[in-house]
Amino acid sequence: MIRITDLKLPLHHADEALPAAIVKRLRITPRDLIRFAVARRGNDAREHGRIQLVYTVDVAVKNEGTVLARNRRDRDVSLTPDTRYRAPAPAKDGAPRPVVIGAGPCGLFAALILAQAGYRPIILERGKVVRERTKDTWGLWRRSVLNPESNVQYGEGGAGTFSDGKLYSRIKDPRHLNRKVLTEFVKAGAPEDILTEAHPHIGTFRLVTMVESMRATIEELGGEYRFSTRVDGFDIDTGGGQRRMRGLHLNDGGYLEAEHVVMAIGHSARDTFALLLDAGVHAEAKPFSIGVRIEHPQSWIDRARFGPDAGHPILGAAEYHISHHCSNGRTVYSFCMCPGGTVVAATSEEGRVATNGMSQYSRNERNANSGFVVAIDPERDFPGDALAGLALQRHWEAKAFVAGGSNYHAPAQRVGDFLAGRASTTLGSVVPSYRPGVTPTDLSECLPDFAIAAMREAIPVFGRQIKGYDHPDVVMTGVETRTSSPVRFTRGEDLQSLNTRGLFPAGEGAGYAGGILSAAVDGIRVAEAVAARIAAS
Ligand code: FAD
Repeated sequence: MIRITDLKLPLHHADEALPAAIVKRLRITPRDLIRFAVARRGNDAREHGRIQLVYTVDVAVKNEGTVLARNRRDRDVSLTPDTRYRAPAPAKDGAPRPVVIGAGPCGLFAALILAQAGYRPIILERGKVVRERTKDTWGLWRRSVLNPESNVQYGEGGAGTFSDGKLYSRIKDPRHLNRKVLTEFVKAGAPEDILTEAHPHIGTFRLVTMVESMRATIEELGGEYRFSTRVDGFDIDTGGGQRRMRGLHLNDGGYLEAEHVVMAIGHSARDTFALLLDAGVHAEAKPFSIGVRIEHPQSWIDRARFGPDAGHPILGAAEYHISHHCSNGRTVYSFCMCPGGTVVAATSEEGRVATNGMSQYSRNERNANSGFVVAIDPERDFPGDALAGLALQRHWEAKAFVAGGSNYHAPAQRVGDFLAGRASTTLGSVVPSYRPGVTPTDLSECLPDFAIAAMREAIPVFGRQIKGYDHPDVVMTGVETRTSSPVRFTRGEDLQSLNTRGLFPAGEGAGYAGGILSAAVDGIRVAEAVAARIAAS
C-alpha cells in the first residue's frame, strides 16, 4: 500500500473530502483508488477558526508502482512501512525461566514477550493485584492512609495505572515496537482509536481491566505472578573475574535462583536502588525535573487552544506543551499534561508529599492539570554519589509534607500570591482537585530558590502563549519531584548492566524510559535481549 502523510483537511470537512483529497494528492482517477485506511489523525490548531485535521492514510491503488514513481518527489508519499512485530525465536525445551521484577508497563511487556516466546517468566511484584491496589491507593486519597507497599507507584500495572494513560512518546522507534504495544493494549480492551489518534490516551479505569487481561494472557502462556513479593537483595556471583546474577532474596525470607533478571522497578523504588548500589551494580546520577502541578479550568485551555471550535467532539479536551529558557539558565516546561483530569497524591513513602496527574478516558473533569517543572542536573544541582538526586527528592517531598500540614494534604498557592511573593491564605475561583486536600501556603518553602525564580519568570511568558495561564486564581500544588528517575543503571549494547551479566536494567527506574509507551517498548527490547542471551547460552 501507499502511505500519504500530512494530508490536511478542514476540521468541518465532509466524509467524501478525504478520498477526494487522496485522489488529488496521488494524481490518480477515482476509479484507481481501491480502498484506504486512516493510520493516524491529529490536528493543526495554530490558526483559530481554521483548524485543520492532519491525516496519515494507507491507500491501495491500481498500478501501485506507477503511482509511486509518479509521486517520487513528494516527501509525503511512500510505501506503507511494514509494522508487523517479529518475535524472538521460541524457547528451547528446558530453557531457564527468566525473572521479571516489577509489573509496570515495562515489566508487563517484557513478561508478555517472553511468555509469547515460550520462556514462562516469573514476575515478582512488591505490590498487590490491581483491584486490591486500587482500594489502597484510594485509601490515601480519601482517608490520608498511605500503604507504603501498595499505592499509586507500587502494585500491578505500575505507576501509570492511575493516570491519564497518554500513549505517545518521542523515542526513536525504527522497528515500530510502539505498534506492538498499542496492538496488545487493544487486544486487552483499550479503545481501538489508540491505533489511529496522534495523541492517544486510555484513562485510568480502562487501564485497570487491561492490566488484568494481560495478566491472564501471560499466565495462560505459562508465566507466573508472585504479588506482595519484594526483592530485598541481589545475589551476584563475583567469581572468575566477572560479576553474574545468581539469585534474588525475597521479603518473605525466600531465595529464588535467577540468572536472567529484568529489573523493571520504576523510578520510586528507592530502597531497591540502594540495594542495587550496595550490591555493586553500576549506576550514575542523571538529570530530572522538579516543580509543582498547575491547574486551570479546562474550558480556558480549550478556548485558548481551539478558539471558536472549542468543544468540537473530534478535538476533545485541549492539551498543551510549553517551555521557556530562563535568564538564570534554567529551562521550565509543562510535563505530563492531563486534560480534564485531577491532581493526585503520588507518594510511596511515609512523611512525604509528591504530586502527579490522572484523568478518565472522557477527560471531562473541570480542571486541566500539568506538571510545571524546572530541569535539574547532577553537576549543578546535586553533586555526589549516584543516589544524590534521590536524596534531593526526599528532602523537598518532606518539606512539602510539613507545609501541607503533616497529614498528606499538599501545599498549594494561588499564582497571584506566588508571583507577589506572599503566602496564600485562601484559594480563589480555581478549585484544586488534589485529594485528600490542600493547605494554602507559600510554595517557595518547598522548592529551591533557583526553581522558584525560574517559575516566576516563566508564568507570565506562558500567560502570553495560553490566555489565562497566569490568572491570579490559578492554583499550584506541590511538589512534583518524580518526573523521571534520578539515577541510571547503565547498560551495554546487549542491554545488560555494564558490570553485572544477566541483570537487565529496564524501563523508567533504570533511566531508559519516561512514560508508559516508552517503558513498554523498552520492556520488549529487553525481553528480546534476554531471549537472545538464553538462546546463546
Ligand atoms: P513502574 O510503572 O513504576 O513499575 C515498576 C513496578 O516495580 C511497580 O509496580 C513496583 O511496585 C515494582 N517494584 C519496585 N521495586 C520492586 C521490588 N524491589 N520488588 C518487586 N517489585 C518492585 N506516563 C505516560 O506515558 N502517560 C501518562 O498519562 C502518565 N501518567 C502518570 C500518572 C501518574 C499518577 C504517575 C505516577 C505516572 C504517570 N506516568 C504516565 C508515568 C508512567 O506511569 C511511568 O513512566 C511508567 O509506569 C514507567 O513504567 P515502568 O514499568 O518502568 O515502572
